Amino acid sequence: MYAKINVVALASRRASLAALCLLSGVGPVAGAPAPEVVAAQLRDAAMAGHTIAYSWVSELTTRFGPRPAGSANEQQAAAWAAARFKALGFENVHIEAFPLTAWVRSTESAEITAPNTQPLVVAALGESPPTPAGGLEGDVVIFPTLGDLKAAAPGSLGGKIALVARRMVRMQDGSGYPVAVDARVDGPHEAAQRGASAFLLRSVGTDSHRIAHTGTTRYQDGRVPIPSFALSAPDADQLERLAALGQTVRVRLVSNASYVRDAHSQNVIAEVRGRDRPQEIVMLGAHLDSWDQGTGAIDDGTGTAIITAALKLIGDLPHRPRRTVRVVLFGSEEVGQPVEPGSAFGGHSYVVNHRTELATHVLTSESDFGADRVYQLALPPAASGSPFAQAALRVLGPIGVLAAPRPAADAGTDVGPSVEAGVPAFTLSQDGTRYFDIHHTPDDTLDKVDRSQLDQNVAAWVALVWLAADSDVDFRTHVPTPPAN
Ligand SMILES: [Zn+2]
Repeated sequence: MYAKINVVALASRRASLAALCLLSGVGPVAGAPAPEVVAAQLRDAAMAGHTIAYSWVSELTTRFGPRPAGSANEQQAAAWAAARFKALGFENVHIEAFPLTAWVRSTESAEITAPNTQPLVVAALGESPPTPAGGLEGDVVIFPTLGDLKAAAPGSLGGKIALVARRMVRMQDGSGYPVAVDARVDGPHEAAQRGASAFLLRSVGTDSHRIAHTGTTRYQDGRVPIPSFALSAPDADQLERLAALGQTVRVRLVSNASYVRDAHSQNVIAEVRGRDRPQEIVMLGAHLDSWDQGTGAIDDGTGTAIITAALKLIGDLPHRPRRTVRVVLFGSEEVGQPVEPGSAFGGHSYVVNHRTELATHVLTSESDFGADRVYQLALPPAASGSPFAQAALRVLGPIGVLAAPRPAADAGTDVGPSVEAGVPAFTLSQDGTRYFDIHHTPDDTLDKVDRSQLDQNVAAWVALVWLAADSDVDFRTHVPTPPAN
């Protein structure tokens, strides 16, 4: 049961007046608490557990399990989310479909075949083509980094299997990821250019478990050039040690992956309309699709839960924010992700469908980094250090959120095309210390979600979003800082 929140009780004395102003639809709501007071009350309600976040991610991951882009699971989850949005009282609820070619993993396996036989744990990278029937076999050539692979001479890998063995560094802000993931993004292409028959990658992850981290890679002429796999970290270690013993290591790889033409994915949209400036939109994003091996709990079921729970708390207030708050659950974030003209992913489709509206998108962000606690706020350059920033930090400070050292430049893949089109972005950085233990693995399941940290995320989002939506701050241009006394 969804509990009433503090602010509702506190404001109930004003309910009839608030309703009157809501009907009139303009201006400040007479008698309503100041925006900062409301933001603090929303924060406290979320921290007290009065959110639908956990029940949302529990139901989503339990009903539908994995939700690969273009799959029936993803489509059914989208229909469920739209129905839930309507039941929650949201407005302008609709689904926007877009076409794509889906990728299906099917069965896969790997083993060392020389100097003796040993099993390996692998996961094909997204969009990777299948091996020939019966698999392919080759000697493994190990490169410490992508740079070392790029330094190999053209043709030097003819018929061989290239392995990039770089280890990802664990960092709270996830900054070890881009350093390591370049091998996943560009490795297949670079290996193919040098004649390799297949590409292997030490999983981009921070765990030591015998599970492989899948992920997308860059397409060449619309496809991944050669069969490409992530190896579990212990298996990458094993290949490195065998090679260090002076052994020639041969590996057999099997993948029965396939493509489904004429599939579709979709974005799911819902709003609480603004009372005063409804054309001005604060847009919150997360993605509904997931990788196929887990149930997409931390990537990104929790993100969809956080923004939906924040919108629900705002929708339950006795008065609306001045501006519209829009939630977008994007489809096809994980595959189809490379930003190329016409590439089929939800963030791109959103910009195509809403291009004329983007000028009145006043602020955006997305939640796509698990569900561990938020520790840092970055605002658009125009708002950094402004009275708005000071108010936001007063509200977020008590739940452990501090100012980021730099303004927000972007906010993630889904809202990326909108930000590139000029929509100002903020970020609420989450503690990513353990995120890459689980990311893109079969271990991405509901039990990894810490409910109290999930609700702290909702608290940070709802407070910040309320402050932005119940204001007239222009985040595109400079907000003057009052002179110091
Ligand atoms: Zn994600």
